[in-house]
Amino acid sequence: MARKLIVGNWKMNSSLSANHDLLHAINAGLTSTSCQAAVCVPAPYLAQGQQLLNGGALALGAQDVSAHEQGAFTGEVSAAMLRDFSVRYAIVGHSERRQYHGETDAVVASKAQRALAAGITPIVCVGETLAEREAGHTAEVVKRQLAAVIHTNGHCISEIVVAYEPVWAIGTGKTATPEQAQEVHALLRAQLAAATEHPERIALLYGGSMNAANAASLLAQHDIDGGLIGGASLKAADFLSIVAAASQ
Ligand code: PEP
Repeated sequence: MARKLIVGNWKMNSSLSANHDLLHAINAGLTSTSCQAAVCVPAPYLAQGQQLLNGGALALGAQDVSAHEQGAFTGEVSAAMLRDFSVRYAIVGHSERRQYHGETDAVVASKAQRALAAGITPIVCVGETLAEREAGHTAEVVKRQLAAVIHTNGHCISEIVVAYEPVWAIGTGKTATPEQAQEVHALLRAQLAAATEHPERIALLYGGSMNAANAASLLAQHDIDGGLIGGASLKAADFLSIVAAASQ
């Protein structure tokens, strides 16, 4: 990957007026040398994001997408609807969706498929819980989660982004060490290389308490192509520090 990719995941935070200030501050801080950057905003704010970002350097993303194309699925948002708002990325399989909304590997794979069919890049999240890590099952878990997406999407997987997000590191302030993260990224890279002729197109992001202080050491790892940032993406200065670390 030539340029790193930093993606903010606002989760269920912010407001119409706070978004305005945050997006303006981030936009103003991006320079021509900055890495690629995007923000995944709550669905009701996509129209505002489209208007304020206006196809500029900061790309717009969604936090989820329906596994269905259209129809009687109350509350769901389809990939085509996201596309209407110039959405470039959609997070799929975030651990909070797997945990609180019962999303299975098969559902996550279908969501990735819907996004790809609409020309949206799915950011496929994989990651182990603390219990799974302590039981020595990290590799098995992340490979199983990614295998489902590869199985459903075939050669199209060269168009996805993968985010390794250890569940125990999300929102906890406990970051994986650069070595722990690199070890899993290398595994995922090998799995992708066996599945596509163009593994170099796939950005592998690390997510889990990445912040201004630890970003540089994580991003220096050979197989870490960027970051998926939760808490630290809600403050322009913190997000821009991570972007700066990724732009070295
Ligand atoms: C996330 O939710 O994707 C995430 C990485 O959160 P945090 O950075 O807050 O750990």
